[in-house]
Amino acid sequence: MKIINIEAIPVPIPFTHGGPMTDFVVGKAWTELGHLLVRVDTDADITGYGDAFGFNAIHTTKTAIDTLITPIALGRDATEIGPLMDELAVKTHIFGRYGITTFALSGLDIALWDIAGKAAGLPLYKMLGGAYRNKIPAYASLLKYGDPDICARLTEEAIGSGYRSIKLHESTVAPVAATRAAGGDKLPIMLDVNCSWTPHQASKMAEALAPFDLHWLEEPLWPPENFEALAQLRAESGIPIASGENACTVWQFEQMINNGAVDYAQPSMTKVGGLTEMCKISTLAETANVRIQPHSPYFGPGFLATLHFIAASRDIDLIERFYVKLETDMYDNTLDPVDGLIRVPDGPGLGMDPNPTFIEKYRMDKA
Ligand SMILES: [Mg+2]
Repeated sequence: MKIINIEAIPVPIPFTHGGPMTDFVVGKAWTELGHLLVRVDTDADITGYGDAFGFNAIHTTKTAIDTLITPIALGRDATEIGPLMDELAVKTHIFGRYGITTFALSGLDIALWDIAGKAAGLPLYKMLGGAYRNKIPAYASLLKYGDPDICARLTEEAIGSGYRSIKLHESTVAPVAATRAAGGDKLPIMLDVNCSWTPHQASKMAEALAPFDLHWLEEPLWPPENFEALAQLRAESGIPIASGENACTVWQFEQMINNGAVDYAQPSMTKVGGLTEMCKISTLAETANVRIQPHSPYFGPGFLATLHFIAASRDIDLIERFYVKLETDMYDNTLDPVDGLIRVPDGPGLGMDPNPTFIEKYRMDKA
């Protein structure tokens, strides 16, 4: 089955999020959630979809796919996923082992797994060995507001709609205190700092945060690969540490885990190299008694692939659901949580294709 066409389609989706933005990720005017769909067609009339991270890097990642990946992958056997992804990783490594190049590889890998599942007539979770569960509890991943009142209001709203755990993207104590007060003593609260602190600052903040019983503290340190300091913070604070959305392939996860840096490793399907690399990281983590908690603040094929991956994993109990309202959802809102649970689709491959009407409406590369 030959790959006859690869199309990287930038799709910015207008969204709202319940409040004004502070300096989160792309700045104050963040009104569109960028996705880069990767459509792969084969000569067997099977089409697969992947996506590559993301946000305001989608045009840069598209260029990497168009100029670095597609020239090598066109004409190749779509079912030879491992050999092709290995070859692409070797041939592109001189342009960077992490970041845009690996995001681009992730998009292709996810699409090839979608094709493999469709060719076999099996949902991806069965290709991975079968499901431990078919509904995955989602946690509401709030954006960064820097405003305790907004965090409290959105926490109450999310709990009211069925969520049973909340993640904040904040770097001060007051929003955490407000969320604990709003959600009660038993609510699991995760705090994602997005690499804001030095080790010294993190040590002070961990003391201040101790009364709020965090379920995990995510990416507290800059730089994220400072694994020795992360391990020291983990040991001294006693707070479970999560990290990995900025880690490069299974090799850097090995360094992270061997340093004792994390309780939860957080590979991201659209960033780390796709499903192929996720499976390698999963095996590594299992043998080191480290739990996986994937990063998934996106809504396309990468989210679907994450759902299948979690369904087929014995010890992952949550999926990250970005707490935003999209103007239009590419899967017609069929993945929205019901009572805090997201059902894993059981159609072949990823189980669903993006709605073609959605793609035509939002794609930015129209002639
Ligand atoms: Mg994070």
